[in-house]
Amino acid sequence: MADLLQRRYSTLGPYSPLFYSQPIEFVRAERVWLTARDGQRYLDGYNNVPHVGHSHPRVVEAIAKQAATLNIHTRYLNDRVVDYAENLLATLDRPLDRIIFTNSGSESNDLALRIANQHSGSRGLLISDFSYHGHTQALAVATTGLVAHEGLGAHVRPIRIPDMDGPDAGREESEVLKSSLAEVDGAISSLQEAGHGVAAVLFDSLFSTEGLNRVPEGYVSGLAERVRQAGGLVIGDEVQSGFGRTGRSFWGHQNHGIIPDLVTMGKPMGNGHPIGAVALSAPLLDEFGPRNMYFNTFGGNPVSAAAGQAVLDVLAEERLIEGAVAGGAAIQTALRELRRDYPWIGPAKGAGLFFGFEVLDRPATEAGAAPDPARTKEIVEAMRARNVLISRIGRNDNVLKMRPPLAIRPDELAMIIDTLADVLAAADTLARR
Ligand code: PMP
Repeated sequence: MADLLQRRYSTLGPYSPLFYSQPIEFVRAERVWLTARDGQRYLDGYNNVPHVGHSHPRVVEAIAKQAATLNIHTRYLNDRVVDYAENLLATLDRPLDRIIFTNSGSESNDLALRIANQHSGSRGLLISDFSYHGHTQALAVATTGLVAHEGLGAHVRPIRIPDMDGPDAGREESEVLKSSLAEVDGAISSLQEAGHGVAAVLFDSLFSTEGLNRVPEGYVSGLAERVRQAGGLVIGDEVQSGFGRTGRSFWGHQNHGIIPDLVTMGKPMGNGHPIGAVALSAPLLDEFGPRNMYFNTFGGNPVSAAAGQAVLDVLAEERLIEGAVAGGAAIQTALRELRRDYPWIGPAKGAGLFFGFEVLDRPATEAGAAPDPARTKEIVEAMRARNVLISRIGRNDNVLKMRPPLAIRPDELAMIIDTLADVLAAADTLARR
């Protein structure tokens, strides 16, 4: 292991992050179980890319069969690709009726920004003040949540996303809504005054990087309305929240009662096979298309389309989104109970099978309660020591992040919670010493 780590550093460099103080080398995986080189098995409570389960036989077979039959670039006709586009579009609300395939979430967001810039004739961009949407040049200058050397572009305005279970807890929801939308108005005015105009707002409807914020009812629709009034487009980043992750709906934006102008997707779309997409309306594509020769060598090739179609098929046949609803409800109940025993954890956050909670340094009700990133990290490491993989997110790095493949079974979800209960008990004892 030490040798492999050294070889990785010597080839890939030391800056591409690895999880855990002692990284784990995995050799294979099946559904929600990963096997390490030393034979230990880990329950996957973290990975949303293997959406329908690691190495799902249907997806593997679809990829292998198509690769053995035909794989070409995207300038020839192929029925699999068109069938998949039709089936994917059927999951979206009208007027979203066109798809552009890409290879990743970053590529999708970058393309969505280009489309919005050309549509509006502006570059001004509204973005959450703690977010990540990808690694291209255009996105690096709009990255507020993780390290990006460039610094923010002059055309970017970060806005604070409210959180009724975080800093805004205890405030009147209508008041939070009002002040948060006033901040949006201010950011729009600032862009206009600086001559940038408004091209778009780009947001993740689960506010995943921010820490699964619970926003006031009407916040996202109010944000969208203001951006459109200013001539900009609404870009819904569904890289984390799409494909039924929240259980409540197929797409995260549907939970907020809006239809974005551009929907970007990636991660779970091919269950690990690299495929992404931008969904948009025909008029918007007709505006962009004639002025831009869009050609993507790999994006949406027959093998990618086979992988994507297999994911849609398995989601439906195994009723995994219904499972996410039931699983999500069980989790919320279990987390509420845990909070009774450990008042230094925050309320359950998230929806469906993307959930977590804040870790504080003392009970939330005590004066001066503050985020406890050190204890959060210890909990993640202690879970790993008990063979359960989870992680952490948020501005203060103190929100535990759990996001298992949708294929997880109720008894396996219970294992995550039971292990968490053990780990919290140990952390509680330590804190009392
Ligand atoms: N958007 C969101 C919300 C993401 O979480 C990520 C990746 N973490 C991306 C976009 C970028 O996707 P990719 O890594 O596939 O380029």
